[in-house]
Amino acid sequence: MPRVFSGIQPSGELHIGNYLGAVRNWVALQDQAECLFCIVDLHAVTQAYEPADLPQRTLDMAIGLLAAGLDPARCTLFVQSHVPQHAELQWYFNTVTPLGELERMTQFKDKTARLESIPAGLLNYPILQAADILLYRADRVPVGEDQLQHLELAREIARRFNARYGRTFFPEPQPMLTGATRILGLDGQAKMSKSLGNTIGLLDSPETIWEKLRPAMTDPARKTKKDPGNPDVCNIWSLHRYFSSESEVATAADKCRSAGWGCLDCKRVLADNMIRELAPMRERAEALRQHPEQVRDVLAAGAERCRALADGTLAEVRRIMGFLPAGM
Ligand code: ATP
Ligand code: MG
Repeated sequence: MPRVFSGIQPSGELHIGNYLGAVRNWVALQDQAECLFCIVDLHAVTQAYEPADLPQRTLDMAIGLLAAGLDPARCTLFVQSHVPQHAELQWYFNTVTPLGELERMTQFKDKTARLESIPAGLLNYPILQAADILLYRADRVPVGEDQLQHLELAREIARRFNARYGRTFFPEPQPMLTGATRILGLDGQAKMSKSLGNTIGLLDSPETIWEKLRPAMTDPARKTKKDPGNPDVCNIWSLHRYFSSESEVATAADKCRSAGWGCLDCKRVLADNMIRELAPMRERAEALRQHPEQVRDVLAAGAERCRALADGTLAEVRRIMGFLPAGM
């Protein structure tokens, strides 16, 4: 059975981009592979954050993922900082990763564009990501398109380690994409991102979903209801494709092109469908919030299992790299 690894940062609310791009694939993969899913809090501290909020954010992310359909009986869900071995392997990988590769990463450039002082953690982010995956020698990684470049680097790191130490120890992890590789944010411009605040939360209330959709960007050519539009350049229409029926998608396109309805009418249909689809997840999350101790138990069991797996890999890595075993 292939081993799947993927992660998500507790850097904000779990959003429909995360869900459509990655998490729904995680849910589906539970029956096809041995799945490890990680809330990557060590990654989240590379961006500005409030330490006092991080524990709750981490717990909320676990609740969101379980509500979205992760089943602890069929997958392992854990928190990255509960398995300190991720950081150890990252250090070893630091020694085989070319600096130039890190500097050309798009996410590094995007996330540092407005920073006066750049923390080395943002540069080294993809090395930790490679360690996350390779600590478990996972060969499949379900992610959104934005992570393809990092995965390419993870393969490069695996190859360089294997070449340096003269054996094929690490596999080269391959991405697994969904049909929704890059969901745009409500601004209609940037990728929907937790850290950009352009999201619709997977667990948002019906009122919040509508409040967020109402002012969301559509085809700028539609200044008034009478102006015809082009659905192909409208982010709202592209969201219809994930939440509405085929006939509703077709009707939305027709009515946009013919100015047969206004953007608000189009958004109302989308909101209703989205609300209906997300309702069961909201209900499950509500039930889990009543029992945070159960969620903590799931995370504790997940971390215990992963620490054991990680110990196995690291014992080998230390031996391969030639470190003197402790106590000798
Ligand atoms: P941040 O803004 O803090 O980086 P994020 O929203 O990009 O947060 P991540 O935790 O970095 O979320 O990524 C989690 C997973 O969701 C990754 O597999 C990523 O590829 C996927 N993903 C994130 N945003 C999108 C999106 N807009 N469309 C499709 N997939 C996405
Ligand atoms: Mg991201």
